[in-house]
Amino acid sequence: MYRTRTCGELRLTNVGERVTLAGWVQSVHNLGALTFVDLRDRYGITQLAFTEDASEELRQKAGKLGREYVLQATGVVAERYSKNKNIPTGEIEILVEELNILNESAIPPFTIEENSDGGDDLRMKYRYLDLRRPVVRQNLELRHKFAFEVRRYLDEQGFLEIETPVLVNSTPEGARDFVVPSRMNPGQFYALPQSPQTLKQLLMVAGMDRYFQIVKCFRDEDLRADRQPEFTQIDCEMSFVEQEDILQMFEGMSRHLFKVIKGIDIPALPRMTWADAMKNYGSDKPDTRFGMEFVELKNNQPDNASREIVESIFPDGFGVFDGAVYIGAICAEGQAVYTRKQIDQLTDFVKRPQIGAKGLVYARVEEDGNVKSSVDKFYTQETLQVLKQKMNAKPGDLILILSGDDAMKVRKQLCELRLEMGSRMGLRDKNKFSCLWVIDFPMYEWSDEEQRLMAMHHPFTSPKPEDIPLLDTDPASVRANAYDMVINGVEVGGGSIRIHDAKTQQKIFEILGFTPEQAQQKFGFLMNAFKFGAPPHGGLAYGLDRFVSLFAGLDSIRDCIAFPKNNSGRDVMLDAPGFLEQAQLDELNLQVVPQE
Ligand code: ASP
Repeated sequence: MYRTRTCGELRLTNVGERVTLAGWVQSVHNLGALTFVDLRDRYGITQLAFTEDASEELRQKAGKLGREYVLQATGVVAERYSKNKNIPTGEIEILVEELNILNESAIPPFTIEENSDGGDDLRMKYRYLDLRRPVVRQNLELRHKFAFEVRRYLDEQGFLEIETPVLVNSTPEGARDFVVPSRMNPGQFYALPQSPQTLKQLLMVAGMDRYFQIVKCFRDEDLRADRQPEFTQIDCEMSFVEQEDILQMFEGMSRHLFKVIKGIDIPALPRMTWADAMKNYGSDKPDTRFGMEFVELKNNQPDNASREIVESIFPDGFGVFDGAVYIGAICAEGQAVYTRKQIDQLTDFVKRPQIGAKGLVYARVEEDGNVKSSVDKFYTQETLQVLKQKMNAKPGDLILILSGDDAMKVRKQLCELRLEMGSRMGLRDKNKFSCLWVIDFPMYEWSDEEQRLMAMHHPFTSPKPEDIPLLDTDPASVRANAYDMVINGVEVGGGSIRIHDAKTQQKIFEILGFTPEQAQQKFGFLMNAFKFGAPPHGGLAYGLDRFVSLFAGLDSIRDCIAFPKNNSGRDVMLDAPGFLEQAQLDELNLQVVPQE
C-alpha cells in the first residue's frame, strides 16, 4: 500500500496513530536540528517533522529533498508545538520514521502555491503543475460536482444521456466550422459539431422523448474571456412539450444546482421579454443584480425593442440632442459627488472605439433639489427639473445621458455605461446571484455584412404561433419561441421550441435565403425525417464552462477547464495546432501552400 491516509484528513483525534502518506513536497524548512516538510496531495497539506530523534540516515535524506519531490513517508501523528490555524491539518504533524523518495523533481518554473508567481503563459505551458495548486484544482472539483448533479437531476427526470457523433457535416448559418479531412473520401471533409442540434432533434423523431448529453462543441470564432474553440454544453431536448414545460424543467435544474452546490435557495425566475431587456438594459443578457434601468428621454425610431415614439423632453437648443433619434439616460444613486475628473474618465470610457459613443452629458441633483448639468447653457432649470422628475432622481444623484442616431446602438453604449457604474458602485457582487429568463426573442436579426436576415437563435426555432402570419408581410418583427437563461449578466443557456413540420421549416429556410435545392442539400436529412411523424419538441443547451465559472466566481472560463487554449486558439502545453508530415498530407490529399 502506497499510503494509509491522505494529506488532508489527520486531526488531533488521530494523535498516536502510525500512518503512511504520499505526495509532493510543497516546501522544506531546514532549521538545523529540525527539518519540516510540507507534503501536499489533492486533499491537503500535512507537515512532516524530522527531529533530533530521527536516525542520521533519515535526516540526511530529508536534507536532500527539493520542491515537488514525490515522497512516501511513514510515522506517528503528533500534536504540533506551534499550530497553524490556516490549514485543517495545522494542529498535527507526522514524526517521520521511514522516508521513501518515489521520484525527484526538476526545479518547477513557478511556485506551486495558493498565489503563484507564474504569469499566464508560463502557467499554461506547465498546466499540469498549475493544476497542483489548490485554487485551480478546486475549480475542477466544482466542475465535477456540477456535472454530476446535472446528471443526477436529469436522470431523476427520466432523461437519457445519448452520445452523438463528433465527425459530422458542416452546417451553414452558425459560426465557422472546424473541419477534418476524410482520407477514405478524398476531397471531402467532416466538420466538428457546433452543437448536436439537428442530431438531438432526430433523436426526438426517434422517440427518445427526453435526451441530454454533456458534450464538447466546437466553434472557430475569435476568442474572448468567455469563449474557447472547444467548450462543453449540457445539451437537452424534450418531446411533447411547450415552452412552459421547458422553462419549468430547467428552472428546476438550476434550483437544484444552486441548492446542492452553493447552498442557496433561488427565488422563482422572473421572465423578461427580449424587447423589455433591450429597452431597459440595452442587452439581451441584463445584469439584474442592480436596477439603474434606462429612461427614454426621446425615441423617434420605433423598433422591435420599443414600438412607441417618445417625444423629447428637451426643447430645441442643443444641436446634439435636437438631431438625435434616441436619447436615453440612467440615474446613478448618490453619485453626484463625482468630480470633474471622474466624469471625464467616464466620458473617455464611453468614447472608446469598442463602445463608440460621441460624448456624455451629465446632470447632478444638488442638495437643494436644483439640477446642474453639462448642458446648462442650453436649457432652463425648468427643463432640467422635468429631467429630474423623469429620472426619478433625488438630491445627490447623478444622471448620465447618451444620445445618437440609432436607438439600438445608443442602448448598447448605455448598457456598457450602466455596467461600468454598477461595478464602480460595488453593485456586482460575485457572491450574489440574480437569475432570469429572457423570452420572446425575435426570429431574425438583420446582418449588415450579409445584407439579409439571419436566424437569431438558429433556423430550427419555431415562430410564436400568433406571429406566423407576419412571416409573409414583416418577417423582421416575428418573435420566436426562444428563451435564454441569464445569471448576473451572463447567458448561461438558451434554446427554443422547434419547428416540427417540413413545410414551415422549408418556409424558414426560404426567408433565410436558401433556394429549395440548397435547403435540400444541407438539411434534406432533417426535413425528410420530419415526414415520418416528428413530435412537437424543444430544448435548450447550457454552457457548462460559463455556468461553472459563475459558481466559482471566476472572470474567465479558462480557469475551470483543465487544459484550455489561449487567445490565439493554441494549446501552449501541447504546442497544438502543429504541422503535418508530407506523407500524412499526401494520404489526406491535402496540399499546403507555404505561408510567406
Ligand atoms: N443548439 C443550441 C445552441 O447551441 C441550443 C438549443 O437550441 O438547444 O445554442
